[in-house]
Amino acid sequence: MFNRMEPNVNSNISRERLAEIEEIAGQSNTTKRPTVQSLEEILYQPIPVLDHGFIRIIDYMGDDSAIVQAARVSYGKGTKKINEDKGLIHYLMRHSHTTPFEMCEIKFHIKLPIFVARQWIRHRTANVNEYSARYSILDREFYLPAPEHLAAQSSNNRQGRGDTLVGDEAARVMDLLKHDSQTCYNHYLEILNIDDATGDVIDPNRSGLARELARMNLTLNYYTQWYWKIDLHNLLHFLRLRADSHAQYEIRIYAEKILDVLAKWLPITHEAFVNYQLNGVRLSASALNAIKLMIKGDNVSQENSGMSKREWGELMGILCI
Ligand SMILES: Cc1cc2nc3c(=O)[nH]c(=O)nc-3n(C[C@H](O)[C@H](O)[C@H](O)COP(=O)(O)OP(=O)(O)OC[C@H]3O[C@@H](n4cnc5c(N)ncnc54)[C@H](O)[C@@H]3O)c2cc1C
Repeated sequence: MFNRMEPNVNSNISRERLAEIEEIAGQSNTTKRPTVQSLEEILYQPIPVLDHGFIRIIDYMGDDSAIVQAARVSYGKGTKKINEDKGLIHYLMRHSHTTPFEMCEIKFHIKLPIFVARQWIRHRTANVNEYSARYSILDREFYLPAPEHLAAQSSNNRQGRGDTLVGDEAARVMDLLKHDSQTCYNHYLEILNIDDATGDVIDPNRSGLARELARMNLTLNYYTQWYWKIDLHNLLHFLRLRADSHAQYEIRIYAEKILDVLAKWLPITHEAFVNYQLNGVRLSASALNAIKLMIKGDNVSQENSGMSKREWGELMGILCI
């Protein structure tokens, strides 16, 4: 019999798993290392994402002062007045002096659809250990977009979405996504020779296909899980790309939850990151020149700016013109 999870209590995590989390969250350790109270409060707790996913913090190292301490190569805490520390972190962020940010680390347990995991794993600078579907049987948990995220292909962006599907078309698409995911899972269990209702072997005279092969019949919206550990410098790089409006919604929503965690963990770094990187822009020399001319009152257009139509459009988008 395989280890089937109990029905989900909050649809993202089972009661059984929540009990395990409660047990570990009830324990406490003493340490001389700096800790961050607002992060301690949410340690181990699953933060729901999408319909069955979550992120939860397993461990972390360092706080804002660890960055300051490393930057000053200090013998002690390294921190001075809060304003000076803030000024230093903002300076480091502004000037891409990145190594002090590598002194902090965080480890997450993340549950995410396989197609999101494929995008996520492209970030090569993390340490990852994924749930083994060679060893274990995946749960019947697949992602279905909420109606407001069931969108058509964008007409002007090949990598993007357009208007939300509505009416019969939306209903039919949802039906197909659900039906195909269910059917594939039914066949997955059948070829494993496992009874869906009991979790027992269906036919003792059949051996069933190996788990490592049976899983290939599942669709990309099935959920996988991993432990993901990354240093702060690389985490910020991940967030800059994936919390950006150009990232696909399904990975962006995870990045946004991690951004909330960052705000609790390292409030000064979070503020600097949002200001200088996430919401900041890098301008080309020609874009900067165009802005200078506009400020002077000159008549600047795409044609005389030396910029391509696309680049000009992007600049106008940034300037909200
Ligand atoms: C909006 C968006 C659309 C995308 N579309 C596509 C797509 O269509 N097809 C596709 O294949 N990918 C796509 N990607 C993935 C993208 O090309 C990167 O692979 C991904 O964002 C990881 O970025 P990274 O390599 O900088 O990150 P990491 O792997 O975390 O690397 C961080 C940094 O380390 C350095 N580094 C790491 N490994 C090496 C190495 N081997 N050699 C040299 N330097 C290294 C680089 O400086 C790199 O920036 C897309 C990403 C985004 C955000």
